[in-house]
Amino acid sequence: MKLLTGKKLISQIDDYLADPRHEPEVLIRKRWAWIWFMATFFFVTITSFFSLVFIEMWPLWYAVVIFMVSYFIGIPLFRRLKRFDLVLNIVFSIFIITAFIMMVEVGGLNSSMGYIYIGINCTMGSALAGNIRWTIGMFITYCFTIILLGILDPLLSIPDYISPKEGLISFVALTIWISAITLFLVILYMKDRNRFEKENAERLQKIDEAKTKLFTNVSHEFRTPLTIIQGTTDLMEKKPEKWNKIGLKKIKDQSNILLRLVDQMLNISKLEAEGMKLNSIHGNIGKFVKYIAVSFTSLAENFNIDLCVEESEKSLYSDYDPEKLMHILSNLISNAIKFTPTGGKVNVKISEKKENDRNWILISVEDTGRGISQESIKKIFDRFYQVPDQQYQTPGTGLGLALTYELVKLMNGEIHVKSEPEKGTEFIVLMPVK
Ligand code: ADP
Repeated sequence: MKLLTGKKLISQIDDYLADPRHEPEVLIRKRWAWIWFMATFFFVTITSFFSLVFIEMWPLWYAVVIFMVSYFIGIPLFRRLKRFDLVLNIVFSIFIITAFIMMVEVGGLNSSMGYIYIGINCTMGSALAGNIRWTIGMFITYCFTIILLGILDPLLSIPDYISPKEGLISFVALTIWISAITLFLVILYMKDRNRFEKENAERLQKIDEAKTKLFTNVSHEFRTPLTIIQGTTDLMEKKPEKWNKIGLKKIKDQSNILLRLVDQMLNISKLEAEGMKLNSIHGNIGKFVKYIAVSFTSLAENFNIDLCVEESEKSLYSDYDPEKLMHILSNLISNAIKFTPTGGKVNVKISEKKENDRNWILISVEDTGRGISQESIKKIFDRFYQVPDQQYQTPGTGLGLALTYELVKLMNGEIHVKSEPEKGTEFIVLMPVK
């Protein structure tokens, strides 16, 4: 029992049967149908050996050949074909008919030697493969063979090579053996299915929690700029001469934040539908990076952060998609500002790099902020991930870096992070020069 339930053995079987064409639920059926298939294979081999050698039932040699040939063709096909259930069902249907012929040979139902259980064992195996129609068909075939044996009974006689004692021993042994295997495997299968269902329920619950968290975070992200916009318009209404100019700028900044958030969410769903394509242009990428970085100056000033942009001395020309690059830079720079305390520094640098005989554009966004621990660095590109931190509690959705990562990948680039807690973080984006 321990051996079969052992996770190691199960995972070895899963590796052996792994097939990307199948859903996880189908793989569970495949796994257990396989275990059943192999259990019956060993069972049939051992039983055939004993029947032929010890009870000397040589007239039944053809049945052993049919069983073995079916296994040797069926086993590799079961593993390779997508419709493993058909393979199993065809092999087991052959077994039911063979069992019928064997029972005719040994004198009918009353002296069935226990072969009567072969059919029910095959039907159980078929049920594990999960094709209900075949299982019902197999059961009907089995019942039909039994009824036919009943009708033929008066014409059948027990051959000389089977003594009543041998018939009885074979019947008792097969009954116990087949019932035990059936019960044993059905219990294990049920246990495994329950575990799968439990894991599935937990997974769905986690997705649900992530959705609720996203909903709360997104509402919060929308609420802050909207509250600022509303407060500003109130002030502009009350004291237009004092607030009109400052207010307009504030409203513009806040609506840009809202727009970026909406874009982020739309892009994530576009990426999910795999409908995102590059719209590249050829141009001075250094100038573009500077233009985007400078647009964050007023946001940085609001938080009293020194935003510095270092352009390469040489003009850097390449193919790039301005919209996607803007999203990448906006995410990195706004994060750098968000996670750096007042008085800190954010440095955006663009340069050229030669590596592996290829020219790369290197964009670095470095800050002197709170940094990220080594453990969290592994997860920051995951969707909805936010570094847990009681001290800072910064709002966000955990989508920005996941989107950035996907966009960099779409541009055939790479993104790397270097960080030291409480010292700062540097994000480096590498893009091939085209
Ligand atoms: P969000 O900023 O909306 O929370 P992101 O996907 O942009 O989501 O970032 C994920 C997490 O990575 C952030 O919650 C933050 O904890 C961490 N992070 C990102 N950029 C920085 C940075 N420059 N400094 C420190 N932590 C950062």
